[in-house]
Amino acid sequence: MSLSGKVALVTGASRGIGAAIARELRRRGARVAINYNSSREAAERLRRELGDGAEVFKADVSNRQEVRSMVEDVVGTFGGLDVVVNNAGIMELMPFEQLDEARLDRMWAVNVKGPIYVTLEALPHLKKSRGVVVNVASIAGIGTALANTTYYAITKAALIALTRRLAFDLAPYGIRVNAVAPSWIETDLTTRGRTREEVERAKSDIIGKTALRALAAPEDIARAVAFLASDDARLVTGQVLVVDGGRLDYLTHGV
Ligand code: NAP
Repeated sequence: MSLSGKVALVTGASRGIGAAIARELRRRGARVAINYNSSREAAERLRRELGDGAEVFKADVSNRQEVRSMVEDVVGTFGGLDVVVNNAGIMELMPFEQLDEARLDRMWAVNVKGPIYVTLEALPHLKKSRGVVVNVASIAGIGTALANTTYYAITKAALIALTRRLAFDLAPYGIRVNAVAPSWIETDLTTRGRTREEVERAKSDIIGKTALRALAAPEDIARAVAFLASDDARLVTGQVLVVDGGRLDYLTHGV
Protein backbone atom coordinates (compact mmCIF):
# COMPACT_ATOMS: atom_id res chain seq x y z
CA MET A 1 0.00 0.00 0.00
CA SER A 2 2.66 2.46 -1.01
CA LEU A 3 1.68 6.04 -1.74
CA SER A 4 5.13 6.93 -2.92
CA GLY A 5 5.11 9.61 -5.59
CA LYS A 6 1.59 10.81 -4.70
CA VAL A 7 0.62 14.24 -3.47
CA ALA A 8 -2.25 14.23 -0.95
CA LEU A 9 -4.31 17.13 0.37
CA VAL A 10 -5.94 16.38 3.73
CA THR A 11 -8.48 18.95 4.89
CA GLY A 12 -8.79 19.57 8.62
CA ALA A 13 -5.45 17.90 9.28
CA SER A 14 -4.41 20.09 12.19
CA ARG A 15 -6.06 17.83 14.77
CA GLY A 16 -7.88 14.57 15.43
CA ILE A 17 -8.61 12.14 12.61
CA GLY A 18 -7.21 14.44 9.91
CA ALA A 19 -3.82 14.63 11.64
CA ALA A 20 -3.73 10.81 11.87
CA ILE A 21 -4.58 10.57 8.16
CA ALA A 22 -1.79 13.01 7.26
CA ARG A 23 0.69 10.95 9.33
CA GLU A 24 -0.38 7.68 7.72
CA LEU A 25 -0.26 9.00 4.15
CA ARG A 26 3.17 10.53 4.77
CA ARG A 27 4.38 7.27 6.37
CA ARG A 28 3.38 5.49 3.18
CA GLY A 29 5.41 7.86 1.06
CA ALA A 30 2.95 10.54 -0.06
CA ARG A 31 3.85 14.19 0.12
CA VAL A 32 1.15 15.75 2.24
CA ALA A 33 -0.62 19.11 2.24
CA ILE A 34 -1.87 19.75 5.77
CA ASN A 35 -4.93 22.00 5.62
CA TYR A 36 -6.12 23.85 8.70
CA ASN A 37 -8.50 26.68 9.40
CA SER A 38 -7.90 28.03 12.90
CA SER A 39 -5.33 25.71 14.56
CA ARG A 40 -2.18 27.09 12.96
CA GLU A 41 0.17 26.04 15.73
CA ALA A 42 -1.06 22.46 15.74
CA ALA A 43 -0.73 22.30 11.94
CA GLU A 44 2.83 23.68 12.10
CA ARG A 45 3.71 21.17 14.82
CA LEU A 46 2.48 18.33 12.63
CA ARG A 47 4.47 19.68 9.67
CA ARG A 48 7.64 19.66 11.79
CA GLU A 49 6.85 16.12 12.92
CA LEU A 50 6.37 14.94 9.33
CA GLY A 51 9.47 16.75 8.06
CA ASP A 52 10.27 17.14 4.36
CA GLY A 53 7.35 16.28 2.17
CA ALA A 54 4.73 18.00 4.30
CA GLU A 55 3.54 21.60 4.10
CA VAL A 56 0.81 23.61 5.78
CA PHE A 57 -2.02 25.40 3.92
CA LYS A 58 -4.65 27.57 5.55
CA ALA A 59 -8.20 27.67 4.18
CA ASP A 60 -11.75 27.61 5.47
CA VAL A 61 -13.19 24.82 3.32
CA SER A 62 -16.58 26.51 3.33
CA ASN A 63 -15.10 29.50 1.49
CA ARG A 64 -14.68 28.71 -2.19
CA GLN A 65 -12.19 31.51 -2.84
CA GLU A 66 -9.96 30.32 0.00
CA VAL A 67 -10.23 26.74 -1.26
CA ARG A 68 -9.27 27.86 -4.77
CA SER A 69 -6.17 29.68 -3.49
CA MET A 70 -5.23 26.72 -1.30
CA VAL A 71 -5.42 24.23 -4.18
CA GLU A 72 -3.35 26.57 -6.38
CA ASP A 73 -0.76 26.83 -3.60
CA VAL A 74 -0.68 23.06 -3.06
CA VAL A 75 -0.16 22.39 -6.76
CA GLY A 76 2.40 25.22 -6.96
CA THR A 77 4.31 23.70 -4.05
CA PHE A 78 4.16 20.01 -4.93
CA GLY A 79 3.69 20.14 -8.71
CA GLY A 80 0.38 18.25 -8.83
CA LEU A 81 -2.37 16.61 -6.81
CA ASP A 82 -3.27 12.91 -6.68
CA VAL A 83 -5.32 12.41 -3.52
CA VAL A 84 -7.94 14.61 -1.87
CA VAL A 85 -9.15 13.64 1.59
CA ASN A 86 -12.22 15.62 2.59
CA ASN A 87 -11.92 15.22 6.34
CA ALA A 88 -12.66 18.70 7.75
CA GLY A 89 -15.94 18.65 9.60
CA ILE A 90 -17.82 20.01 12.57
CA MET A 91 -20.59 18.65 14.75
CA GLU A 92 -23.20 21.01 16.16
CA LEU A 93 -25.31 19.15 18.67
CA MET A 94 -28.96 20.18 18.93
CA PRO A 95 -32.26 18.45 19.50
CA PHE A 96 -34.43 18.34 16.39
CA GLU A 97 -37.01 20.60 18.02
CA GLN A 98 -34.44 23.23 18.96
CA LEU A 99 -33.17 24.12 15.52
CA ASP A 100 -30.54 26.85 15.49
CA GLU A 101 -30.48 27.81 11.83
CA ALA A 102 -27.12 29.56 11.96
CA ARG A 103 -25.44 26.48 13.44
CA LEU A 104 -27.15 24.19 10.92
CA ASP A 105 -26.06 26.46 8.06
CA ARG A 106 -22.47 26.48 9.36
CA MET A 107 -22.43 22.69 9.66
CA TRP A 108 -23.86 22.31 6.15
CA ALA A 109 -21.31 24.77 4.78
CA VAL A 110 -18.32 22.96 6.30
CA ASN A 111 -19.46 19.33 6.06
CA VAL A 112 -21.18 19.38 2.66
CA LYS A 113 -20.19 22.48 0.71
CA GLY A 114 -16.59 22.09 1.90
CA PRO A 115 -16.05 18.72 0.17
CA ILE A 116 -17.91 20.04 -2.91
CA TYR A 117 -15.65 23.11 -3.17
CA VAL A 118 -12.43 21.19 -2.50
CA THR A 119 -13.30 18.50 -5.04
CA LEU A 120 -14.38 21.04 -7.66
CA GLU A 121 -11.23 23.12 -7.29
CA ALA A 122 -9.01 20.03 -7.26
CA LEU A 123 -10.75 18.48 -10.26
CA PRO A 124 -8.55 19.84 -13.07
CA HIS A 125 -5.52 18.41 -11.26
CA LEU A 126 -7.21 15.12 -10.38
CA LYS A 127 -8.14 14.71 -14.05
CA LYS A 128 -4.47 14.98 -14.96
CA SER A 129 -3.36 12.49 -12.29
CA ARG A 130 -6.40 10.16 -12.58
CA GLY A 131 -6.61 10.82 -8.87
CA VAL A 132 -8.62 9.78 -5.88
CA VAL A 133 -11.12 11.41 -3.52
CA VAL A 134 -11.78 10.00 -0.04
CA ASN A 135 -14.54 11.58 2.02
CA VAL A 136 -14.69 11.19 5.79
CA ALA A 137 -18.38 10.62 6.46
CA SER A 138 -19.79 9.00 9.61
CA ILE A 139 -21.94 6.08 10.60
CA ALA A 140 -24.33 8.83 11.74
CA GLY A 141 -25.10 9.29 8.05
CA ILE A 142 -26.07 5.63 7.71
CA GLY A 143 -28.27 5.04 10.69
CA THR A 144 -26.82 5.00 14.19
CA ALA A 145 -28.54 7.44 16.45
CA LEU A 146 -26.64 9.39 19.09
CA ALA A 147 -28.72 11.97 20.96
CA ASN A 148 -28.95 15.40 19.35
CA THR A 149 -27.09 14.44 16.17
CA THR A 150 -29.97 14.42 13.68
CA TYR A 151 -28.81 17.58 11.89
CA TYR A 152 -25.18 16.41 11.89
CA ALA A 153 -26.31 13.04 10.54
CA ILE A 154 -28.04 14.60 7.54
CA THR A 155 -24.85 16.43 6.57
CA LYS A 156 -23.00 13.09 6.61
CA ALA A 157 -25.80 11.37 4.68
CA ALA A 158 -25.42 14.12 2.09
CA LEU A 159 -21.69 13.46 1.94
CA ILE A 160 -22.34 9.77 1.36
CA ALA A 161 -24.78 10.63 -1.45
CA LEU A 162 -22.15 12.95 -2.91
CA THR A 163 -19.59 10.15 -2.76
CA ARG A 164 -21.78 7.75 -4.69
CA ARG A 165 -22.83 10.32 -7.29
CA LEU A 166 -19.28 11.56 -7.85
CA ALA A 167 -18.09 7.98 -8.32
CA PHE A 168 -20.23 7.95 -11.46
CA ASP A 169 -19.61 11.56 -12.50
CA LEU A 170 -15.84 11.29 -12.24
CA ALA A 171 -15.28 7.70 -13.38
CA PRO A 172 -14.91 8.81 -17.02
CA TYR A 173 -11.78 10.69 -15.92
CA GLY A 174 -10.41 7.63 -14.13
CA ILE A 175 -11.02 9.31 -10.76
CA ARG A 176 -12.19 7.09 -7.89
CA VAL A 177 -14.40 8.44 -5.09
CA ASN A 178 -15.01 6.62 -1.82
CA ALA A 179 -15.89 7.37 1.76
CA VAL A 180 -14.87 6.09 5.16
CA ALA A 181 -17.55 6.07 7.83
CA PRO A 182 -16.08 6.10 11.34
CA SER A 183 -18.00 5.48 14.50
CA TRP A 184 -17.44 7.42 17.75
CA ILE A 185 -13.78 8.35 18.17
CA GLU A 186 -12.25 10.26 21.02
CA THR A 187 -11.25 13.65 19.54
CA ASP A 188 -12.04 17.28 20.29
CA LEU A 189 -15.20 16.85 18.22
CA THR A 190 -16.66 14.31 20.64
CA THR A 191 -15.11 15.41 23.95
CA ARG A 192 -15.55 19.18 23.84
CA GLY A 193 -17.78 20.36 26.67
CA ARG A 194 -17.76 16.95 28.38
CA THR A 195 -16.14 15.98 31.65
CA ARG A 196 -13.58 13.16 31.74
CA GLU A 197 -16.19 11.03 33.47
CA GLU A 198 -18.75 11.68 30.74
CA VAL A 199 -16.20 10.82 28.06
CA GLU A 200 -15.29 7.55 29.77
CA ARG A 201 -18.99 6.71 30.11
CA ALA A 202 -19.55 7.47 26.42
CA LYS A 203 -16.60 5.25 25.49
CA SER A 204 -17.81 2.24 27.45
CA ASP A 205 -21.32 2.82 26.12
CA ILE A 206 -20.02 2.73 22.52
CA ILE A 207 -17.81 -0.31 23.19
CA GLY A 208 -20.89 -2.10 24.51
CA LYS A 209 -22.62 -1.43 21.19
CA THR A 210 -19.95 -3.09 19.05
CA ALA A 211 -19.68 -6.74 18.06
CA LEU A 212 -15.90 -6.62 18.51
CA ARG A 213 -16.18 -4.83 21.87
CA ALA A 214 -13.71 -2.22 20.66
CA LEU A 215 -13.47 1.50 20.10
CA ALA A 216 -12.11 2.96 16.86
CA ALA A 217 -9.07 5.24 17.02
CA PRO A 218 -8.02 7.94 14.53
CA GLU A 219 -5.31 5.56 13.24
CA ASP A 220 -7.96 2.98 12.27
CA ILE A 221 -9.60 5.56 10.04
CA ALA A 222 -6.22 6.67 8.68
CA ARG A 223 -5.35 3.13 7.56
CA ALA A 224 -8.72 2.75 5.81
CA VAL A 225 -8.18 6.07 4.03
CA ALA A 226 -4.66 5.01 2.99
CA PHE A 227 -6.05 1.83 1.44
CA LEU A 228 -8.72 3.69 -0.53
CA ALA A 229 -6.16 6.27 -1.64
CA SER A 230 -3.72 3.62 -2.86
CA ASP A 231 -3.55 1.77 -6.17
CA ASP A 232 -4.39 -1.40 -4.22
CA ALA A 233 -7.96 -0.08 -4.32
CA ARG A 234 -7.81 0.60 -8.07
CA LEU A 235 -11.23 -0.97 -8.74
CA VAL A 236 -12.93 0.37 -5.61
CA THR A 237 -15.20 3.33 -6.20
CA GLY A 238 -18.53 4.59 -4.88
CA GLN A 239 -18.05 2.65 -1.64
CA VAL A 240 -18.53 3.55 2.00
CA LEU A 241 -16.03 1.71 4.18
CA VAL A 242 -17.51 1.50 7.67
CA VAL A 243 -14.88 1.34 10.42
CA ASP A 244 -16.79 0.85 13.63
CA GLY A 245 -15.99 -2.49 15.27
CA GLY A 246 -19.34 -3.84 14.09
CA ARG A 247 -21.98 -1.58 15.59
CA LEU A 248 -25.06 -3.50 16.69
CA ASP A 249 -27.39 -0.52 16.88
CA TYR A 250 -28.04 0.43 13.28
CA LEU A 251 -31.50 1.78 12.60
CA THR A 252 -31.02 0.58 9.05
CA HIS A 253 -28.53 -1.60 7.28
CA GLY A 254 -29.20 -0.17 3.88
CA VAL A 255 -25.78 1.19 2.96
P1 NAP B 1 -11.82 17.49 15.35
O1 NAP B 1 -10.84 16.81 16.25
O2 NAP B 1 -12.76 18.48 15.90
O3 NAP B 1 -10.99 18.14 14.15
C1 NAP B 1 -11.68 18.81 13.15
C2 NAP B 1 -10.70 19.27 12.09
O4 NAP B 1 -11.46 19.92 11.05
C3 NAP B 1 -9.70 20.27 12.63
O5 NAP B 1 -8.44 20.00 12.04
C4 NAP B 1 -10.24 21.61 12.13
O6 NAP B 1 -9.22 22.54 11.82
C5 NAP B 1 -10.90 21.19 10.84
N1 NAP B 1 -11.92 22.14 10.41
C6 NAP B 1 -13.07 22.48 11.03
N2 NAP B 1 -13.72 23.41 10.31
C7 NAP B 1 -12.94 23.67 9.24
C8 NAP B 1 -13.06 24.55 8.14
N3 NAP B 1 -14.13 25.36 8.01
N4 NAP B 1 -12.09 24.56 7.21
C9 NAP B 1 -11.00 23.76 7.34
N5 NAP B 1 -10.82 22.91 8.37
C10 NAP B 1 -11.79 22.89 9.30
O7 NAP B 1 -12.73 16.41 14.59
P2 NAP B 1 -12.46 14.87 14.22
O8 NAP B 1 -13.15 14.04 15.20
O9 NAP B 1 -11.04 14.65 13.91
O10 NAP B 1 -13.33 14.79 12.88
C11 NAP B 1 -12.76 14.72 11.59
C12 NAP B 1 -13.84 14.26 10.63
O11 NAP B 1 -14.28 12.97 11.03
C13 NAP B 1 -15.07 15.15 10.59
O12 NAP B 1 -15.54 15.25 9.28
C14 NAP B 1 -16.06 14.41 11.47
O13 NAP B 1 -17.38 14.71 11.14
C15 NAP B 1 -15.70 12.97 11.12
N6 NAP B 1 -16.11 12.00 12.13
C16 NAP B 1 -15.67 12.08 13.42
C17 NAP B 1 -16.09 11.14 14.33
C18 NAP B 1 -15.68 11.17 15.77
O14 NAP B 1 -16.28 10.44 16.57
N7 NAP B 1 -14.68 11.93 16.16
C19 NAP B 1 -16.94 10.10 13.93
C20 NAP B 1 -17.36 10.05 12.61
C21 NAP B 1 -16.93 10.99 11.72
P3 NAP B 1 -8.90 23.87 12.71
O15 NAP B 1 -8.84 23.45 14.14
O16 NAP B 1 -7.59 24.30 12.14
O17 NAP B 1 -10.00 24.84 12.41
